Amino acid sequence: MVLRLSTLFLRTLRDDPADAEVASHRLLVRAGYIRRAAPGIYSWLPLGLKVLAKVEAVIREEMEEIGAQEVHFPALLPKEPYEATNRWTEYGDGIFRLQDRKGADYLLAPTHEEMFTLLVKDLYTSYKDLPVRLFQIQTKYRDEARPRAGLLRGREFIMKDSYSFDIDDEALEESYQLHRAAYVRIFERLGLEIIPVTATAGAMGGSKSEEFLHPTPIGEDTFVRSAGGYTANVEAVSTVVPAALDFTTAPAAEVHDTPDTPTISTLVDHANAAAPRDDRAWTAADTLKNVVLAARLPTGEREILVVGVPGDRAVDLKRIEATIAGHLGSGGEVAVETATEEDLAKHPGLVKGYIGPGLSLEDPVLGADATTGLRYLVDPRVVSGTAWITGANQPGRHVFGLIAGRDFGWDGTIEAVEVREGDEAPDGSGPLIAARGIEMGHIFQLGRKYAEALGLKVLDRNGKLTTVTMGSYGVGVTRAIAALAESNHDDRGIIWPRNVAPADVHLVATGKGTEVYEAAEKLAAELESDGLTVLYDDRPKVSPGVKFGDAELIGVPTIVVVGRGLAEGVIEVRDRRTGEAQNVAVDETAAFLRRLTAH
Ligand code: ATP
Ligand code: MG
Repeated sequence: MVLRLSTLFLRTLRDDPADAEVASHRLLVRAGYIRRAAPGIYSWLPLGLKVLAKVEAVIREEMEEIGAQEVHFPALLPKEPYEATNRWTEYGDGIFRLQDRKGADYLLAPTHEEMFTLLVKDLYTSYKDLPVRLFQIQTKYRDEARPRAGLLRGREFIMKDSYSFDIDDEALEESYQLHRAAYVRIFERLGLEIIPVTATAGAMGGSKSEEFLHPTPIGEDTFVRSAGGYTANVEAVSTVVPAALDFTTAPAAEVHDTPDTPTISTLVDHANAAAPRDDRAWTAADTLKNVVLAARLPTGEREILVVGVPGDRAVDLKRIEATIAGHLGSGGEVAVETATEEDLAKHPGLVKGYIGPGLSLEDPVLGADATTGLRYLVDPRVVSGTAWITGANQPGRHVFGLIAGRDFGWDGTIEAVEVREGDEAPDGSGPLIAARGIEMGHIFQLGRKYAEALGLKVLDRNGKLTTVTMGSYGVGVTRAIAALAESNHDDRGIIWPRNVAPADVHLVATGKGTEVYEAAEKLAAELESDGLTVLYDDRPKVSPGVKFGDAELIGVPTIVVVGRGLAEGVIEVRDRRTGEAQNVAVDETAAFLRRLTAH
């Protein structure tokens, strides 16, 4: 195919779009791949569609390779299936809802677990029908709170989503591993560096889950890795739990007057001045900080709870959100925020700045919560026998030497604090270092949550009805394009990996005479007949500078120049990435380019 710049529907732009914060967004707009229609919503131009088709083709091939079959669902869906799984409510403001002329509720699908589950339920009845793996490449809609960075976080975006249906856990594991391997191949073929990290299953209700992160400083996800090969999303990092301590000889706790010590640092200073230790100074790590949080349940309820963490660590709300639902007995996603003044006012037992674990010292019954009546969760470092300086639930007073498991109990343990560089990896593979990434794909053992909610059962070997177990697997197709542009550009433009470039060759004819155009036409035709896609700059009255500028902006990895050299019988072949140029004899150019672009 030859795409002629004289007629191609394209206008490259000299100026950056005003709303673009990242390079990929700027360059994809300036080079004429996409145009903004509304915040987080983009139109695709001819060059953009070429790239999109290539990315989709790679994904489609790898899905078919693992036996997944392509289907296509509508984006506009009725409310009922999403009500059956409670996601109509759980998604909150995150989805676009609409009504038809009769007032019936619909939504624009943010993901399609419900529809796939119902489709299989409609048609399949027996274990003999399984396993089945289905996928689609489809437009999704999410009313993201902060659409950003062009295609990276859109409100309309394309996702490849697939779903596996299996008779038992072992078969699900196989479907999962097949997808995992397919994802590794997809990103390898796209030329996108990926780190699979352990993720939390979260509200989707499943067990095993991994995210495929592309490391980039503009990523919104923080992940950690160790020298020994451990990788995880920070939300999934579990703390190395210290051994419980023997407290039989520990002295009794003492309440101290600690006026004007509402913060950890004022408290530590006070402790070192008023009650110094012999062996070392008190530090923030000796204090137990009790933070009051408000959890918003999918039902709309608001529960106030207290979380106890070592005073040298900051609370990480996202880490708490990853597992809090289980503690509160909620099947859906729970949002957590710090409690407001209003929340605190409703619980006069909570003395701001002096909040304790909530258990009366006179009546140290494990697990009870005599003072506040609120749920009390602790960081895993708060193990039995550890001694703490913590609030006494009285203004201006703290208690010293309060022993976990002797003087106070808790309702549960939760990963509640930030992961820090230098923390030990949970698998003992060394200290953690942190990096940023963006999630390109996600694989997930859903288990039976959706099949149960929607009644997907088949007859097993013994003729008994059994609930099917499912996996769900997503790749952000349009996000992948943004990530590719982000990680493959310089100050002049994009530099596409060959597998996804909109053309194999960007052919530029420069010069006044007709000879260069004739030679370029001939070369374009030859390459076309070899099956290559040629972006041919045949514009007669455009200066060489503009042509080269456009070629570098658009980012086809090989730029071919038919110009001054023609008189000496050569054509110049430039590498967009390195800028290196070489002259190739006119007659040999087509064969040379065929070899160069073979993939
Ligand atoms: P994120 O944490 O980035 O919001 P997610 O956890 O919501 O992602 P999934 O629901 O697992 O994502 O969706 C599967 C894939 O779809 C993601 O791995 C990502 O590549 C892509 N994706 C999700 N949200 C968006 C979006 N707003 N714009 C573009 N791609 C997206
Ligand atoms: Mg999201």
